[in-house]
Amino acid sequence: MKTIAIDGFSSTGKSTVAKQLAKQLGYVYIDSGAMYRAVTLFALQHGLFVDNQIDKAGLVSELDQIDIDFNFDLNDQKSHIYLNSQNVEHLIRGMEVSSRVSHVAAIPEVREKLVALQRKMSKTQNVIMDGRDIGSVVFPNADFKFFMTATPEERARRRFKELKAKGDDISFEEVLENLKMRDDIDSSRSHSPLIQTEDAIVIDNTTLSQQEQLQLMRSYIDNYL
Ligand code: C5P
Repeated sequence: MKTIAIDGFSSTGKSTVAKQLAKQLGYVYIDSGAMYRAVTLFALQHGLFVDNQIDKAGLVSELDQIDIDFNFDLNDQKSHIYLNSQNVEHLIRGMEVSSRVSHVAAIPEVREKLVALQRKMSKTQNVIMDGRDIGSVVFPNADFKFFMTATPEERARRRFKELKAKGDDISFEEVLENLKMRDDIDSSRSHSPLIQTEDAIVIDNTTLSQQEQLQLMRSYIDNYL
C-alpha cells in the first residue's frame, strides 16, 4: 500500500490539497487533525477542562471510551469524522476546539492511541494523510512527504475568510493569534513535535494559487510514483 504524508503549519491548506490529490490519485484522504479535534471535543463534553486547563490524568483514564471513525457521506461526497458513532464534523471546527486542541495533542497517551489508529487505516488502502507528525512519526517510510508553509498573515487571512463565510463571529487578530499559538505549541512539544524532515519537499504557498500548488505537487508525485 502507498502513503503520502503532508505536514506543516496550521492553516497552510494541507487538507484542501490533500483532498484534491486523493481524488485525482484514487487514494483515501485521512485528516489526522480532525482526530485530535475529536478527542478535544470529547474532553469538552465530559468536563475534562478545569479553568481552561486540560485534566490530563482524567482524559488519559477515559481514552478507552473514545471511538473515532471516518465515514464517507454519499450526499456531499465527503468523509466525515465520527466520535462514538456521532457525526461531529461540524462541532470540531470552531474556536472552542481550535483554542484547546494543541494542549490535548501534546499528551503522549493521546498521540499513541491516534497514531496506532492512523497506521491501522493505512494497512488496507492507499492513503494520503495530513497533520504535523505524519512524515516524521506516523509514516517515516512514506512514499512521498510534503511540508507546507506560508506566512502567518496569509494563513490567517485565508482562515478568517473561511470562518466568516461560515458565520463565525471572530476577528482577524483572534485567528492570527490562534494559529501562532498552535504553531508554537506544536513545534515545541516534547512528544512528536512538528518538524520538517530532511526528505520532505517544502511547498511555500504564500503566493501560489490552489491550482498552481496542485500542479506543483503533482509534478513531484508523477515523477516518482
Ligand atoms: O490539522 P488541524 O489544524 O485541524 O489540527 C489541529 C491540531 O491538532 C493541530 O494544531 C495540532 O495541535 C494537532 N495535530 C497534531 N498532530 C497531527 C495533526 C494535528 O498534533 N498529526
